[in-house]
Amino acid sequence: MRYSQLIDDVWNTTLMVSDGVVPEMPAELELQAIWYAGGFGRDFTTTEGKVVRVVQFGEWNRGAGPDFQHVAVEIDGEHFHGSLELDPYAADWENHQHATNPNYRNVILHVSFRKESGEHFIRNDEHRMIPQVVIDEHALSTALNHPRREGAIAQPGRCVAPLRAMTALDIESLLEEACRHRAALKVKRFSSTAEVHGRDAALFQAVAQTLGYRGNSLPMQLLAQRASLKSLREIPDAIEAALFGTAGFLSPDMHEKAEGATRDYLSDLWTDWWKHRSGFESTRAIPWKMHGQRPANHPHRRVATLSILAQHWSGFRKVALARPFSAKKIVDFLAALTHPFWNFHHTLGSKPTPKAIALFGKTQALELIANHLAPIALQEDALFSYEKFAKLRSSTRNEKLRRVAIRLFGSELLAEPWLGSLVHQQALLQIYHDFCLEDVSDCAQCPFPEQLAQWHS
Ligand code: SF4
Repeated sequence: MRYSQLIDDVWNTTLMVSDGVVPEMPAELELQAIWYAGGFGRDFTTTEGKVVRVVQFGEWNRGAGPDFQHVAVEIDGEHFHGSLELDPYAADWENHQHATNPNYRNVILHVSFRKESGEHFIRNDEHRMIPQVVIDEHALSTALNHPRREGAIAQPGRCVAPLRAMTALDIESLLEEACRHRAALKVKRFSSTAEVHGRDAALFQAVAQTLGYRGNSLPMQLLAQRASLKSLREIPDAIEAALFGTAGFLSPDMHEKAEGATRDYLSDLWTDWWKHRSGFESTRAIPWKMHGQRPANHPHRRVATLSILAQHWSGFRKVALARPFSAKKIVDFLAALTHPFWNFHHTLGSKPTPKAIALFGKTQALELIANHLAPIALQEDALFSYEKFAKLRSSTRNEKLRRVAIRLFGSELLAEPWLGSLVHQQALLQIYHDFCLEDVSDCAQCPFPEQLAQWHS
């Protein structure tokens, strides 16, 4: 059975509690850990008396936005799939301004602790009422006094047993099929954009998406569409200003508040933007995720990298789409990019760093290769085989990969043989996307384990 056929067939922590020491109201993080471990159970009643069952606890979100994503709940027998927010107090929803934040629009359940005096209405920014569960004192103190497993970012799923029963050869062939399936999807997407806007535009958008990881892939793609490569190349001396201005990151008084090199850089950007803004400006702001980002992933820095790449486009294009395909030459080209300001600043307003920082690190270069350039080469370059793709290795694992490792194999340690190569990583991410993220039954109705049992290389 082929992986793509399988997809078609199927569907077109917690904390250790120390003896007896129970804090008055635990920190939010502790409450989340207990919740995620099922320490409060899965059956509740809303403040309106509706019966709630948490079918799937979803994923613990470590970035901006609601605390848990891809959660499935049943409320009075009706099924809901979305995010869940957990706060110590019901009033926190308003206090933290979630009611006006569109990132919280798809929250399907709000969980808080201890009944407070007065009623709290939990609504999203579209004024939809969000069902509330309030966990009482008794349940809280019971949960706090029960030791639990050390917490994890995901829970082992029903695939663990059938995968354990498979031979390494069968797992290898399954992952190869999943990786090939993912590569074909990526090429299809790239070709659709290339057909409409040209190959350069498709490549520019692919790079922008990669730079946007994590949290800003869509905003970066929107930016690359609004400030197209073609329009940028018509103003070679103002590419940085056009991208920062289109992104909405420039304002007239920014440079006046800055000092030294930053002041000069911002002043130049503003002057250039002022000359070209009419060709790029939009009334609709790009929805950047600015919070919860590490300095190296800050949108300012990602936009800077895209602008530097746009300035070196001919060289980049040549190496990225070279035949025969060479991953090493791409990594080397990207590692050699430099910029007098951005080699020493994380954001437009940050202080200079003592040491130079890479603009396009090896991890990002491998992300670009795995997600876009290698799949294209696999299709176009007769000399670039799957076996050559399989030789590319990555020592880093993003959180999604760590989650899928736990879901499928039981732990990161058990998944170790399947985490090192780019093809295995791509395959696991595809399985996660096709099955784990589609499942709303806490594995119970997911068909993948049964399909695994029939899989033979
Ligand atoms: S959702 Fe499906 S694929 Fe994911 S761990 Fe559960 S059974 Fe496996």
